[in-house]
Amino acid sequence: MLNDTIAAISTPLGEGGIAVIRVSGDEAVALAGRLFRGRTKLTDMPTHTVQYGSIVDPGTGEKLEEALVTVMRAPRSFTREDVVEVGCHGGIVAVKRVLDALLEQGVRLAEPGEFTKRAFLNGRIDLTQAEAVIDLIRAKSDRAFKVAMKQVDGKLSKRIGALRYRLIELMAHIEVNIDYPEHDVAEMTSSMIADVGTSVSAEIDELLRTAEQGKILREGISTAIIGKPNVGKSSLLNALAQDERAIVTDIPGTTRDVIEEYVNVGGIPLRLLDTAGIRETTDVVEQIGVERSRSALADADLILLVLNRSETLSEEERELLAAVKDRQTVVVLNKTDLPQRLEIEEVRELFSSERIVETSLLEERGLADLEKAITALFFQGGIDANEMTYVSNARHIHLFKQAKRSLRDALDANEQGVPIDMIQIDLRAAWEQLGEIIGDSVAESLIDQIFSQFCLGK
Ligand code: GDP
Ligand code: ZN
Repeated sequence: MLNDTIAAISTPLGEGGIAVIRVSGDEAVALAGRLFRGRTKLTDMPTHTVQYGSIVDPGTGEKLEEALVTVMRAPRSFTREDVVEVGCHGGIVAVKRVLDALLEQGVRLAEPGEFTKRAFLNGRIDLTQAEAVIDLIRAKSDRAFKVAMKQVDGKLSKRIGALRYRLIELMAHIEVNIDYPEHDVAEMTSSMIADVGTSVSAEIDELLRTAEQGKILREGISTAIIGKPNVGKSSLLNALAQDERAIVTDIPGTTRDVIEEYVNVGGIPLRLLDTAGIRETTDVVEQIGVERSRSALADADLILLVLNRSETLSEEERELLAAVKDRQTVVVLNKTDLPQRLEIEEVRELFSSERIVETSLLEERGLADLEKAITALFFQGGIDANEMTYVSNARHIHLFKQAKRSLRDALDANEQGVPIDMIQIDLRAAWEQLGEIIGDSVAESLIDQIFSQFCLGK
């Protein structure tokens, strides 16, 4: 069942000059071969070669498309199965006709993510890498993209692998001592448990510290644009969204009507909250007034408070300023093209200068300063995706925390002089929890294998 043959259009749908249909499975070459007419039969093509030809309807002989086909035989393919890629240069209609013809031959339409799933099941990539591929597809910003790339490279997996290796060494050592329980050996073992347990736990902490950053990169910073009517909220939204990289995304798994709006500011994805309210063209004061700002505030990680610099502060604005002064806030003093009437000292008393930017959205000035202020808030110290391994997945975070707890138990037990085979149980749990992150479910057999080798050699 696992290797039934699947196909999908693997380039984005649209007018693009070229589209690729990817076919994977035991019968990929045979089934695609029935449609292909070229100098060489598809089934005779050597692996990793490309051939020009045409795709025909085998029933009628009608030519559907010109195509470049690539054959990649197992296991040297992304899925480790036989893979055929059919490159067509036509638009969506032609591509669909080719896909339909394949389906008629008994190829099954791939589910979302199924190629990656197969790569995992066939051992081509581990679980963190599979998850990273999915993130890669969804990456909403350059930074998130780089982080996802790192994970595909298996950087996180390597770090986890190294941690597990140290645990297994320790466990093997303990195993030997259970067999030869001499006193001095026991003492050595106890200090070894303390050393390894503490340092592995510290490294997990370090990975967990990157989690918050990773979450932001993945999900976008939830951002509220607030302020009283007519200060320039809509203008700010439009200015941010004019960036050519601005995207409107509907998050998979949510209902159709929950469409969230993302803008990319300096490589950081901002998820804009309540844009419906801001988008309102007729400024109905009651609707988009301060009340609405307050509700958007509750959910926001980042607040952009817009004030009109050409007017004096209202009581409501003073309240808003006080309410957000301890939050991650950037104050946008807009309409600098008009004479200043705002009591700027009152704002300066509450916010440091790097959190106040002046803009004229009408004249498109000050946006670079705003971008700088936002990136500074979230990347103080200039975090570079290239240097870091991010733990950004809720499942990973959960398992890391479990592993830490198991190590804590082991360390406590060790301190209290609990028998060593009891400590072994906690260490093993930590080892397994870390293994679960990378989808290593063969805990039982592997651990036995390693132990047998170790004890045999000693
Ligand atoms: P909102 O009600 O807070 O969303 O404010 P809008 O973005 O709808 O702007 C209200 C009015 O102020 C519009 O007529 C804008 O053209 C104008 N406006 C926005 N930014 C500026 C600016 O920097 N300078 C001036 N002079 N007018 C601006
Ligand atoms: Zn508006």
